[in-house]
Amino acid sequence: MPQQYLNYIDGEWKPAASGSWNENRNPAHWNEIIGLFPKSGVEEVDEAVAAAREAYKSWRLVPAPERGAILKKAGDIMVERKEDLARDMTREMGKVLAETRGDVQEGIDTAYYAAVEGRRLFSHTAPSELRNKMNLSFRMPIGIAGLITPWNFPMAIPCWKTLPALLCGNSVVLKPASDTPLTATHLVEILIEAGVPKGVINLVHGGGGVVGNRLVEHPDVDVISFTGSSEIGKAINAKAGATLKRVSLELGGKNAQIVMEDADLELALDGVLWGAFGTTGQRCTATSRLLLHQAIYDQFLDMLVGAIKCLTVGDGLDPKSKVGPVVNKSQIETVESYVKIGKAEGARLIVGGHQLTDGAHKDGWFYAPTVFADVQPKMRLFQEEIFGPVLSVAKVKDFDQAVAYHNDCIYGLSSSIYTRDVNRAFRAVRDLEAGITYVNGATIGAECHMPFGGVKQTGNGHREGGWPVYEFYSEIKTVYIDFSGKLQRAQIDNY
Ligand code: NAP
Repeated sequence: MPQQYLNYIDGEWKPAASGSWNENRNPAHWNEIIGLFPKSGVEEVDEAVAAAREAYKSWRLVPAPERGAILKKAGDIMVERKEDLARDMTREMGKVLAETRGDVQEGIDTAYYAAVEGRRLFSHTAPSELRNKMNLSFRMPIGIAGLITPWNFPMAIPCWKTLPALLCGNSVVLKPASDTPLTATHLVEILIEAGVPKGVINLVHGGGGVVGNRLVEHPDVDVISFTGSSEIGKAINAKAGATLKRVSLELGGKNAQIVMEDADLELALDGVLWGAFGTTGQRCTATSRLLLHQAIYDQFLDMLVGAIKCLTVGDGLDPKSKVGPVVNKSQIETVESYVKIGKAEGARLIVGGHQLTDGAHKDGWFYAPTVFADVQPKMRLFQEEIFGPVLSVAKVKDFDQAVAYHNDCIYGLSSSIYTRDVNRAFRAVRDLEAGITYVNGATIGAECHMPFGGVKQTGNGHREGGWPVYEFYSEIKTVYIDFSGKLQRAQIDNY
């Protein structure tokens, strides 16, 4: 009998009232059930929101540096458990150990950064237009934050949301992805151990259409932060409008790496291998399009195919594996459907294009790293997010065409250019329509103290990470203090 894990509501671990469970399976060995997680419903969400509201009354009064000290302790515990956390994460979603260690490290960094913000939480002060009067503003908590997270960064993304929300004095109801409930459970265990009081952090497992949707619709949830697909993000935005919630959306991407004719090609090759096939291509910042200058097109494609043939695909726990499995059956079907679409559109399949089912791959969801060449901007392969190990390559005649191709896309998350020409590098920084641009680096590699997010249909303008996320989770209170001892009327008595 696999282990049963529970929801955490109002300081207690408890099952769902339905008595039903969702299985969490290892994508590298589909027969291995990692655990059973409660199939919660509206009832559990309502209970968690009520507990969060009650706990908020006292949590909002805890000084921010004290809240920060609790989060620092959570970071310390993550440091101690880093290896175990990474191993469980690899088992539940597949990416290789080096990457799951990095995912945990992102959580640690976010905890330590949050602890520091507890001693800052800056707001503005400004001079008054009247004598003997002071104007100040403060950051106040907002209330209850409903946090809905995807499976591809099971520790980093829940930390990006939960830790700043708590630091700002909000209480939290976390609904993790159904594919990665175990890592979220570990995170909540750590927060409890670090001293987050009962009711301040709540965890409700269950399907997005029920649990996530109830959080979005719940009249007593003030903030929704969602990371996931654009389709669901748009629906959430529309629904959350009914109760005027503050909503942060981090959605899909179709990120491109540009390689100019003057680039260091070996460096650019390392970048695209890491960008396109790290996390098996299942990153919002994955390199999904490669724009090659015509002068190096054939040479770079040869280098790319040669390098891909040396990538070992396998169980992420095996140190030899460079690329892990795809997360589940439905995701592998999506990848297969896009390979069919690419062939039908006339793109040239130069490597991969099939599921791996032999020997070590036989009971997991493995897909060969795949490259299509001669992709044209109007093709679906060039335009749509696939979220798997599929790279689409297009030829460009010069820098301007590279920028135009890059920007011909509804998404705008990450971008990259490899060039030794400093003028072109700065023009790319200015002209690529994306929330993030890397110069001589892959499209992936966010650092927790820098703003993270995209333009166009990648989101709704908010950022995770860095300072902006603390603005998102706090409300401004403006205060005027008049010590003149008389009625002073702004805009009237001084003119
Ligand atoms: P998803 O299917 O949109 O799910 C994301 C989360 O939303 C999951 O917790 C899911 O629950 C929940 N959900 C599903 N339906 C819902 C509904 N009707 N109402 C409320 N919540 C609902 O995305 P995913 O497959 O997990 O992740 C892949 C996507 O995330 C890609 O598009 C990727 O680009 C994007 N992503 C973006 C960023 C970024 O920062 N821009 C980062 C990572 C990933 P269940 O798991 O129970 O279905």
